[in-house]
Parts: sequence; C-alpha cells; structure tokens
Amino acid sequence: MITVIEPGSTIGVLGSGQLGRMFTISARRMGYRVHVLSPEKETPTGQVADLEVQASYDDLDAIKEFAQRVNVVTFEFENIPAATITAVDQVSPVHPAGSVLHTTQHRLREKTFLQSTGIPVTPFRAVRTLAELTALSDDHFPGILKTAAWGYDGKGQVKIDSKAQAESAWNSLSTDEAVLERFVDFEREVSMVAARGEGGEFAHYGLFDNTHSHHILDLSVSPSSVSPQVSAAAVEITRTILNALHYVGVLCVEFFVTKGGELLVNELAPRPHNSGHSTIEAHATCQFEQQVRAVCGLPLGSTKQVRPAAMVNLLGDLWEFGAPRWERALALPDVKLHLYGKQQARAGRKMGHLTALAESPEMAMEVALAARDRACTAREGFLRSEK
Ligand code: AMP
Repeated sequence: MITVIEPGSTIGVLGSGQLGRMFTISARRMGYRVHVLSPEKETPTGQVADLEVQASYDDLDAIKEFAQRVNVVTFEFENIPAATITAVDQVSPVHPAGSVLHTTQHRLREKTFLQSTGIPVTPFRAVRTLAELTALSDDHFPGILKTAAWGYDGKGQVKIDSKAQAESAWNSLSTDEAVLERFVDFEREVSMVAARGEGGEFAHYGLFDNTHSHHILDLSVSPSSVSPQVSAAAVEITRTILNALHYVGVLCVEFFVTKGGELLVNELAPRPHNSGHSTIEAHATCQFEQQVRAVCGLPLGSTKQVRPAAMVNLLGDLWEFGAPRWERALALPDVKLHLYGKQQARAGRKMGHLTALAESPEMAMEVALAARDRACTAREGFLRSEK
C-alpha cells in the first residue's frame, strides 16, 4: 500500500545545496515543513528551510534524531554514506532507497548494474592498480580514468590520450579503485529527467540538449532537437532503469549520443538535476515539485512543456570583476534569475542560473546566453584595469 505523506507533514532533506533549496521552495509552497541536515550551516537549503541541523553524515545519533522528527527523508546529494541512509531507514521512510544510493554513488557498481540490465554504456574497465592500467591493451586508449567513488562535475577524472600517460594519470587521482572509460567522440550530450512513483507510475520531461564547459554543465536547452527515434529510445532506457531500481523519486539519466545516433548512458543522478532546472518555468510541474510528490506518495504531476526554454549556469567566475549586473540580464524578455544564496563566489562554483523562455529552443538559447553576457562585468573590469 502507498503511504501518503500529507501536506502539513515534515520532509527531511540530507544535503543542503541548491537542489535542496529549490526542492524546499516547492515543498513549502505545497504546505510541507522542511528540515535539512548537512555538515555546514547557513546553507542554500538552510536559508529557506524550517529547520537547519548542522551535523556530520557520520554522526549516526544526530542522523537518527533528525529522522525521528520528520515524516519522510530524501537527499539532494548522492555522496552521502550508505550507513547514514541505513540509520535513517530504521526510523523513517526514505526515498529514493538506500540501495539505489549504494549503486549510483559508485561508478563501477552503477555501470555493472546498467550493463546487467541490458542498458548501453560507455565501454569501461575496472582498474585497481597502476599495473592493471598499464596491462590494458592499446585499444582502451584514449580513455578517461575516473575514480569509482566521490566524483562529480568532472572532479576525480583525467583524460589519458595514450598509455604513455598512464602513470601520471593514475598518480594524479590517488585512488585504489577507478574506471577507465573509452573516450567517446560524441555528437552531443543529452539528459532525461524522469520520475517514478511508489505504485510504479512514470513521467519524463523529454530530452535536454546539454553543453558542458570544463566538465561542468553550462547550457541546457529543451526540447532537444534529436530525432523522435532517439527520443523514444531514451524514454525506454530511462523507464527500464527506474523500474529495475524500483525507484521512487526523480532521477536523471545522462547520455552521450554517438555520431552514429546510438545512445550510451554516461551516468545516473538519483535526484533532480541541473539540466532540469528550466522545468521550474517551462513545465506544468517542475522537477522539484515532482520529487515532493513522488517521495510523499502523491500522484505525479503533468510534465507537459509549456514553452521552449534554455538554462545557463552562473558560476563564481562571473563575479571575478565584481557583482554581475542583473538588471541588464533581466531587461531581456522572459528571463528568470535564480541565485542560491552562496556567500563566496569561487571559480567553478555554481552560484545560480538563468532561464530564458522563447518561441523556439534556438531563440531561448540565444536569449539565455545574451542575458548572461549582459550581466557579466568582466569587460568593464578589463577596461578598468587597462586605465
Ligand atoms: P561525468 O562526471 O562522468 O559526467 O563527466 C563530466 C563530463 O566529462 C561529461 O559530461 C562529458 O562532457 C565528459 N566526459 C566524461 N566521460 C567521457 C567519455 N567517456 N568520453 C568523452 N567525454 C566524457
């Protein structure tokens, strides 16, 4: 039987970044109370939650106490130790399940699961020592060596063009478990954000076209311009993954589309995803509300797209020459600003995003990029430093 966690109840969130913040905003709009736990304080999620608890994920007493005070727990960050979720599970329902986190927080386990489910993945080899890496035949290179655990946004990975670079690449990762993936000369990267409810119902947002810069997502445009065949194949792969995991919640599947039109799964994110941020404005139900609905046992909402949209990330680099000029970005029609309340703007740190809505995905992309460009004070800074 499906347990409905009614509005007015309290949802616990593990992790306190921007994903938790946008989830909390959706949950509170629907009348839920939200408690958040992470090792930090005054966090993007804590600023908008009813209660912010500062504790280590390894402090299982604090975790259990936190779980006792809420009606259901979810997480916004996949690098939470599996033992933490097990501790929560003894006290409160938790969605997605700890077993999902166990699979998806470890590249080798994730890829092995996908392969055994018949899902096409980037060719890979497990590597545990330098000797194992150098023993691989030349046709495994060029490749990307990735740590099996704790990687995100391109952290913990290094490209190896040829075997000659194996030693320096291995030493740079300082790990005892890694995956060597074949380098994919892809045509493009796409992602699918989808949800599954406790009763097995499924809803997806279609594909997003993604562009990365320095391994960090830069731009997402939807709907994607891939062929209907590729889109349909992505839906079936995503549905298969969610069913195989008995998943409850929102998940994102990141794909490479090869030059031959083949889809390869790069990785899974067991939570709402950066590429789905434009669903806040562009879809009938955004990915964060969908997560609230799924984890609370409510019916999934319509994922109908209302308008084409593009989202650009705002990284700390944009602050290099002073606060961005938001009034210039917002002067463009249908541009929406999201800032995450982070105090320190460091290079590569996700500080916020801009979403543009337009008549077509191409126009939305142009407006989103132009809006970010207009906000950027780098040019002024450059002129100042020239004087
Ligand atoms: P990941 O953290 O695995 O999602 O990697 C971040 C980004 O690095 C991806 O979105 C790609 O742009 C690039 N990348 C990762 N793995 C590969 C690969 N096997 N071949 C080509 N590019 C890759």
